[in-house]
Amino acid sequence: MTRQAIVAANWKMNGDSALVSSMVSALASINLPSHVDVVICPSFPYLSELNQKITAANLNDAIQVGSQNVSEHDSGAYTGEVSTAILQDLAIHYVILGHSERRSLYNETSLQVAKKVHVALNAGLTPILCIGESEAERANGQTESVLSAQIQPVIDEIGINKFNDVVIAYEPVWAIGTGKTASSAMAQETHQFIRQFLAQHNEQVANKVPLLYGGSVNAANCEELFAQADIDGGLIGGASLKAEQFKTICLAA
Ligand code: PGA
Repeated sequence: MTRQAIVAANWKMNGDSALVSSMVSALASINLPSHVDVVICPSFPYLSELNQKITAANLNDAIQVGSQNVSEHDSGAYTGEVSTAILQDLAIHYVILGHSERRSLYNETSLQVAKKVHVALNAGLTPILCIGESEAERANGQTESVLSAQIQPVIDEIGINKFNDVVIAYEPVWAIGTGKTASSAMAQETHQFIRQFLAQHNEQVANKVPLLYGGSVNAANCEELFAQADIDGGLIGGASLKAEQFKTICLAA
């Protein structure tokens, strides 16, 4: 079964107008593969500027813009938050949810992440749902139970059929920003587990959900990772800030 291939850039709290311009120019200089959706997720203030630059470069079909978070609330007195309606108004198509930094630094729970996935889908946004185990959890043999406990509340909240519109990013916490990538065999094994877990609820849906690997993906290791049967692309942090590396990663998907 062919699934949508996706390469998503998570700029985190990095980047500026100069990077918005240089990244769009860099991507305009290559033939982005038509089977790959490239998604760039800058911090909130740059969403519009990035969208405009993509349109000006005629790259709307090839590159989508995503945010790195969204509020679970509709509107109102939530200082510092951004709603799904605001993202819709800015013509944003994707949203990263439940990134491990949101979970660990801002105490986002799996229940809250599930709620965010729900409001995002209701607004027509495609959630990139991030899950992953810590180093200690893997060492203790808890990887599968941790991942299940992160996915199950989302299934309970939205129902398995809505996963037709969800992307999952498996990001082992110990591999994020550390230079320690999961081996392609380990990543494949874990992706296969995630797909089997979804298949217990609905096999057809499970076979359709794009599963991205994230955690120290770079120009040198992307090809082997993306070649794995259950790896449909990547969520790229550090290497997505460097145009040359990011181009290589997009071309490898
Ligand atoms: P990294 O980050 O590629 O810098 O490890 C990935 C992520 O956190 O999404």
